[in-house]
Amino acid sequence: MIAYKAEMAGIRVEWVNPTYTSQTCQCGHREKANRNGIRFRCQRCGYTLHADLNGAINIAKAISGFAV
Ligand SMILES: [Zn+2]
Repeated sequence: MIAYKAEMAGIRVEWVNPTYTSQTCQCGHREKANRNGIRFRCQRCGYTLHADLNGAINIAKAISGFAV
């Protein structure tokens, strides 16, 4: 079940575009400088978390219809 979900997520990642999702903040600000290695820090609002986690959140939003 987990492998099945991961496979589904992998397909979705390609559709959503992982580059943009990992650079986009929850406030809607998207900037290349937001991502620095594994760290995500929004240049506008200062929101900070793990970059891959942020990307995963944005992908989840895109899949569920809450895309920015
Ligand atoms: Zn922000």
